[in-house]
Amino acid sequence: MTEYWVSQGNKWCDLCKIFISNNPFSIRTHELGKRHKDNVTQRLSTMQKDGAAKEKEQQQAAKALQLIEAKAKKSYQKDLENNQRNTDGDSSAAPGEVPSQMATSQQENVIAEPRNNLMGI
Ligand SMILES: [Zn+2]
Repeated sequence: MTEYWVSQGNKWCDLCKIFISNNPFSIRTHELGKRHKDNVTQRLSTMQKDGAAKEKEQQQAAKALQLIEAKAKKSYQKDLENNQRNTDGDSSAAPGEVPSQMATSQQENVIAEPRNNLMGI
C-alpha cells in the first residue's frame, strides 16, 4: 500500500510526503506513528470515495443508456402503430364515420369553454 522511494539513505513516505531515515527502526516508528496512520486512514477513505463516485457514474451511465433504449423502443413502437393505423385507415375503416364523431365531440369542448367565459363576464 505505502509507496517508498529510496534515496540517499532516506525512505520517502508517499502518504506523509516526508523522508524517513532508511533503517528498520525509523520506518517502524514512522509507520506506527499517529501521523502516518492518519494519512493511511485518509488515503483509504479517499479511495473509497473515489470508488463510490465511479460506481455512481457507472450507474448513471447505465441509467442514461436504459433511457435511450426505452425512448428508441417507444418511438419504434409509435412508428409501428402509426404504420398500422395508416394501413388500417386505408383498408377497413369506413371513411367519414369515425373522424366526424371525433370532430363533433372536439367542437363541443371548444365551444363550451368560451361560453363559460362569457357567462363569467
Ligand atoms: Zn508515512
